[in-house]
Amino acid sequence: MFCRIVARTVPATICYEDADVVAFDAVPAATKLHVLVIPRRHIPSVADLADTELAGRLVRVASTIAAEAGVKSFRLATNSGAPLQDVFHLHWHVMAGDGMGHPAGIAFSRRAEAS
Ligand SMILES: [Zn+2]
Repeated sequence: MFCRIVARTVPATICYEDADVVAFDAVPAATKLHVLVIPRRHIPSVADLADTELAGRLVRVASTIAAEAGVKSFRLATNSGAPLQDVFHLHWHVMAGDGMGHPAGIAFSRRAEAS
């Protein structure tokens, strides 16, 4: 699926691309800002990502997208392996918007410890 977006045989709203990285709007969007950042070449998941230079570039593109969207708080997340991962082409979710909680309730438990 994502290889077909890279090849432009499946339509997507691409917001960034270079020789190695492509970013496009997630459909459907789960949050107000929801962009997927992927390597142009097929890598199944982050568990298969050995190229540290590419890893850094993917994260940097994701951060730049958040900065250019003007959000001060955002989440950068990737799922690896079923059932968490849905599409088996490595993708980082860049997400921001109202109503997002801290994952796993960690912020909540820290507040509870402090009280
Ligand atoms: Zn692919």
